Amino acid sequence: MTASQNLTIALSKGRIFDETLPLLAAAGIVPAEDPEKSRKLIIDTNHPNIRLVIVRATDVPTYVQYGAADLGIAGRDVLTEHGGDGLYQPLDLRIAKCRMMVAVHKDFDYATASRAGSRLKVATKYPNIAMEHFAKKGMHVDIIKLYGSMELGPLVGLSDAIVDLVSTGSTLKANDLQAVEHISDISSRLVVNKAALKLKFGEIQPIIDAFRDARQPE
Ligand code: ATP
Ligand code: MG
Repeated sequence: MTASQNLTIALSKGRIFDETLPLLAAAGIVPAEDPEKSRKLIIDTNHPNIRLVIVRATDVPTYVQYGAADLGIAGRDVLTEHGGDGLYQPLDLRIAKCRMMVAVHKDFDYATASRAGSRLKVATKYPNIAMEHFAKKGMHVDIIKLYGSMELGPLVGLSDAIVDLVSTGSTLKANDLQAVEHISDISSRLVVNKAALKLKFGEIQPIIDAFRDARQPE
């Protein structure tokens, strides 16, 4: 009998970790610690050969791309922005669902501004997604890259619009913003290092199968 190979799974704290727990459980994987409570960045599991690494959501594709993690779970927003190089994306896990939207201040006339050919200033954490969206519409925009609190942009005159994730819309509402365009539906996906999939197929394929069977229906 061949010894089972070590597997590293990259996850981010918060909603992705929380929504991944039931999927891990379905694959028979139980973390030994709660990353919200522990300061550890490497978390053991009930499997001696499987460990979790806790990284920023935007760093998950990078860890998997370079093989520092064999598997990871990341939002479609993060994967599109990253580009997906070196990643096999076998499964939409249907977790952490939200929508990528264009939003503006509720008093801003987006329809006129977008028709008039004026140059729109757009603040976003997702420059590639935003650029592609406005290019498709034939609109000229200046992209202002931010790392957080995009909602503030239009309120302080930094930008005319934002491109951001929206789930309930309550953050937009609380800041006098409104969504004016839907760019795409977002959910999180399983990503696998391409080389690891070949070398550790026997360990990885059962996890993919368990996740597929346990995910919520469409
Ligand atoms: P941080 O909030 O620590 O700056 P982050 O925004 O990258 O980091 P999360 O807020 O945990 O991390 O988001 C992780 C992923 O969850 C996102 O990449 C996206 O796919 C999804 N997500 C983000 N916001 C929402 C939301 N409001 N509702 C549902 N899913 C979301
Ligand atoms: Mg966040």
